[in-house]
Amino acid sequence: SSGEGRYIKGTTLGEGTYGIVFKAIDRQTGRTVAVKKIRLGKYKEGVNVTALREIKLLKELRDPNIIELVDVYPHKRNLHLVFEFMESDLEAVIRDRNIVLSAGDIKSYMQMTLKGLAHCHKKWVLHRDMKPNNLLIGVDGQLKLADFGLARIFGSPDRRFTHQVFARWYRAPELLFGSKQYGAGVDIWAAACIFAELMLRRPFLQGSSDIDQLGKIFAAFGTPRESQWPDMTALPDYVEYQFCPAPPLRSLFPMATEDCLDLLSRMFAFDPNVRITAAQALEHRYFVTEPAPTRPQLLRRPP
Ligand code: ADP
Repeated sequence: SSGEGRYIKGTTLGEGTYGIVFKAIDRQTGRTVAVKKIRLGKYKEGVNVTALREIKLLKELRDPNIIELVDVYPHKRNLHLVFEFMESDLEAVIRDRNIVLSAGDIKSYMQMTLKGLAHCHKKWVLHRDMKPNNLLIGVDGQLKLADFGLARIFGSPDRRFTHQVFARWYRAPELLFGSKQYGAGVDIWAAACIFAELMLRRPFLQGSSDIDQLGKIFAAFGTPRESQWPDMTALPDYVEYQFCPAPPLRSLFPMATEDCLDLLSRMFAFDPNVRITAAQALEHRYFVTEPAPTRPQLLRRPP
């Protein structure tokens, strides 16, 4: 069965981009789940039908590194999305000063993130809102991408929610220049920001506005030359920036290995057509050379 009667409602887990999330028990399976209540009231009529159809597609996106969408049902004026319950998220891991992240741990988190992305990109689904608190962690240490595809179905995250400003720090340069024909590269850029954040233990590119975000990107990687990114000047919001030279990437990540920096720089390619794909990244020598990725069960989690 499906619907309101199937779940025993528990405590509220938090308020997210699209609405309230609460904990519940699935009577059918006895499993703990997270129910996301999405207010449909503010969406124009007709959007709901499309939304439901697209959500059905998300249910088919089954992968060990994608959070399972257990059930979808409308109730009153809300759409309820039922997900498997997850203990923690990567943001909590990064912020927990008691957790030491070894090179193998970082490799493990990146491998799981890229596996989830590769699966969805193969099916032409983009995440569009990748950030550490959307990477959930289960009891077995498995990392799973949450909120896949929701940004497209329900529109850009609502600016009313102050925590949304953080999403800017993970935004690819083509998005900041107003590109409307963006692709899977936007998720790779965000994954690169998360990769950097795992090493630095703080967000890497913390822009205070969209313009400042581009400034932070250019300060880290240099202003892109036209030869590096030929389509850049044709983007809707393109503006010329004062020239910034690129410092060596090594100076920003002194502890990283050569393999690590090579993969990171390919994920941070300015031109989305040049940027490495998730499938290619998983084949990169970084995942082959020592240290091996830590087995998920051995990764430490916040209490
Ligand atoms: P955001 O829009 O900021 O990403 P969400 O709507 O995804 O937030 O989530 C709101 C709150 O619910 C957060 O505190 C998050 O940790 C929690 N939450 C979301 N999904 C799950 C889940 N599957 N299991 C456990 N907690 C969840």
